[in-house]
Amino acid sequence: MENENYDIIVVGAGHAGCEAAHVAAVMGAKVLLITMDMTKMAQMSCNPAMGGIAKGQIIKEIDALGGISGIITDLSMIQFRMLNRSKGPAVWSPRAQCDRMLYSAEWRKAIELNNNIHLWQDSVNELKFENDRVCGVRTIMGADFNAQVVILTTGTFESGLMHVGKVKMIGGRISEPASLGITKQLSGYGIQSGRMKTGTPARLDGRTINFKLMDEQQGDDDIRRFSYLETRMPDKQLSCFITYTNEEVHEELRKGFNDSPLYNGTIKSIGPRYCPSIETKLITFGDRDKHQLFLEPEGWSTTEYYLNGFSSSLPLNTQYAALRKIKGLENAVMFRPGYAIEYDYYPPVQLKHSLETKQLTNLFFAGQINGTTGYEEAAAQGLMAGINAVQKISGKPDFILGRDEAYIGVLIDDLVTKGVDEPYRMFTSRAEYRILLRQDNADFRLTPKAIELGTANDERKRRFMERTRIRQKLLKQFNEEGISPFEANNMLKEKGTNEIRQKVKYAELLLRPQVTIFDLMNIVRSTNADFFEGESYENDLLEAIEIEFKYKGYIQREKLLAEKMGRLDTIRIDNGIAYDSLHSISTEGRFKLNKYKPQTLGEAARISGISPSDINVLLLYMGR
Ligand SMILES: Cc1cc2nc3c(=O)[nH]c(=O)nc-3n(C[C@H](O)[C@H](O)[C@H](O)COP(=O)(O)OP(=O)(O)OC[C@H]3O[C@@H](n4cnc5c(N)ncnc54)[C@H](O)[C@@H]3O)c2cc1C
Repeated sequence: MENENYDIIVVGAGHAGCEAAHVAAVMGAKVLLITMDMTKMAQMSCNPAMGGIAKGQIIKEIDALGGISGIITDLSMIQFRMLNRSKGPAVWSPRAQCDRMLYSAEWRKAIELNNNIHLWQDSVNELKFENDRVCGVRTIMGADFNAQVVILTTGTFESGLMHVGKVKMIGGRISEPASLGITKQLSGYGIQSGRMKTGTPARLDGRTINFKLMDEQQGDDDIRRFSYLETRMPDKQLSCFITYTNEEVHEELRKGFNDSPLYNGTIKSIGPRYCPSIETKLITFGDRDKHQLFLEPEGWSTTEYYLNGFSSSLPLNTQYAALRKIKGLENAVMFRPGYAIEYDYYPPVQLKHSLETKQLTNLFFAGQINGTTGYEEAAAQGLMAGINAVQKISGKPDFILGRDEAYIGVLIDDLVTKGVDEPYRMFTSRAEYRILLRQDNADFRLTPKAIELGTANDERKRRFMERTRIRQKLLKQFNEEGISPFEANNMLKEKGTNEIRQKVKYAELLLRPQVTIFDLMNIVRSTNADFFEGESYENDLLEAIEIEFKYKGYIQREKLLAEKMGRLDTIRIDNGIAYDSLHSISTEGRFKLNKYKPQTLGEAARISGISPSDINVLLLYMGR
C-alpha cells in the first residue's frame, strides 16, 4: 500500500471519518481510511445513544442522503423513544439507545463490505503538501501515502489531555493514545487552532445496581426506524432507569473541589454548556437539592451501565464516595471512572461551505475538530466532506445544503459563517425554518439530491419512488374527495368534535386537531376497499402526510420567508469593500465583517452582531 495513490485519504474512523469514507467510496472514489484502532471504529466515546432533539432529525437527513448512521442505529437499537411527542411535529425527535459494541461492529462490517475502501491501522502524524495543496499523509510507523484529497476527522485526539482529579494522562480517549504533530504542522501553514474540553461519567456494573429503588423508563411501543430503508428492528427493548442525586451526594462531591481540574485552574478550555459536569451543575444551580440521573444500558450482551448526568473529572475517590450515596447505587461498583479531556480544534471560519479549508487546497476538515460536539453533528459533516471531496476531484460543483433544506445546512452554515466559541451542538432553535425541517420529511427533502449525486442505492431509490407515489395518491385523494356525514359523524362524535351536515373534503377534516389520518384511513378502508389495492401504508408516512395537511399554512409561510432570505444569498459582496470607511455600519458590524469576510449578503446577515440596519447600509452602498 505504501506510496500507492488514492483519490481520497480519510484520517480517523470516528463518526465523521466513517461516513466520509463510506460515501466517497459509494460515489466511486478509491479511499484509504487510516485509523489508530480498527476495533474502535465509530466508537461512541460518551453515551450509547443516537438522536434526540434536533440530532434525530440530523440522522434522518444523513440517511436520506445515502449515509449509513441511521441504518446502523436501527441495527444496534436497544430502545426507541420519540421525544417531544406532546409538542408540535416540528420538534418531534427520534432517539435510540444503542448497543455500543454492536454499533461499532456494524460500522466496521459496512466499511469492509465496500471494496473501494482500504483500511490501514496506524496514526497519521504529518500531512504532505505541494505548495499549498495537500497530496498525502505520513504515519508514525513510517508509511507514506499519496492522495488528491485528505479529509481530517481526528475528533478529540489532537493533543488530547485527560484529567481525573490531579491525574493527567496524554490520550485521545480513555486508554487510547493522542494524535500529536498535526496541529503544529498546520499552524506553520497559517491554520489557527484552539482548545476545547468535554467530559464523560462513570460506567457501572449493572449487577451491583438496585434497580428496584429507581423509576423505570421503557421505550415506546411504536418503534420507528431512523432509516428510510426496511432495516431490521429489535423485537424487544431494554429499559433505562431514573434516580437522583441528593444533599449527601453533593456534600461528598464538594469535598473533591480543591482537586477538581475544572475549578483549580488546571483546565482552561471551554466545555459543552449543555452537557455540564456534575461539579458544574452544583456550582451553577447551587440552590437545587437534587439532579436527575439516567442509568442507560450499554448493550444486549453486557452488564455495563452508563450514568448519564454524572459527568465528572473529580478525583477517583470523590467520584466513588459520591456515587455510593445515590439511591440505588449504595453498593455500585464502577467499571470505569468519569474523566475530562482537552483537545485541539480548528475554528471553522477557516472553512468553505464544502468543508474544504480556505488556505489549503483539497484539505477538508470534519467532525469534532471543527468545534462541534456529538456523534450526529460529526457524522453529518463527514458525509458532506466525503461528498464534496468527490465533487472536487470530479470537477463538479460543491454540494451545499441551504438552511431551509436541512439541519445539516444550518449546522455547516453556522460553523463557517459564525464560528464557535464553545462546543457547538445542534438544537431545533438554531433552525429558522424548523417546520420545513421535520424528521418525518427528510427523504422528500433530500433523497432526490442523493439520487442525483449517486449516493442512493437501488433499494433507496425504489423505496423513495414508492413512498412518493403513495404520498401523491393520498394528497390527491384527501384534497379532491369528499366524505359524507354518514361516513364521518360516528368518528367525529367519538373524538368530541362537531359533526358535519354535508359532504366535506377529507383535507378539511384533517385540519381539526382531534382528527388523525388514521381515523380517516379507517373510514376509507370500510368505504372504498379498492383504494388500498392490497397495499399497506407505513405509519410514519401516514403521519408525515397528516402533518403536511395540518401545518399547511405554517409550511407555506416558512417557504415564502426562505425564498425571500434566499435572495440575499444570491447577492455577492465584493471582497474589496473597505468596511472601516462605512461609518453607518455599527462598530461591531464592521469588526465582524472584517473578521469573517462573508461572500454574500445572506451570509453577512447571519453573522451574530450584524444587524438588519447594517445589511441595509451594505445594500445601499452596493447600489441595490
Ligand atoms: C470523554 C468524552 C466525552 C464526550 N462527551 C460528549 C458529550 O457529553 N456529548 C456529546 O455530544 N459528545 C461528547 N463527546 C464527543 C463525541 O464523542 C464526539 O462528538 C464524536 O465522537 C466526534 O466524532 P468524530 O468522528 O469527530 O471524532 P471521534 O469519534 O473522536 O473519532 C476520531 C477517530 O480518529 C482516530 N484518530 C485520531 N487521530 C488520528 C490520527 N492521527 N491518525 C489516525 N487516526 C486518528 C481515532 O482513533 C478515532 O477513531 C465526548 C467525547 C469524549 C472523548
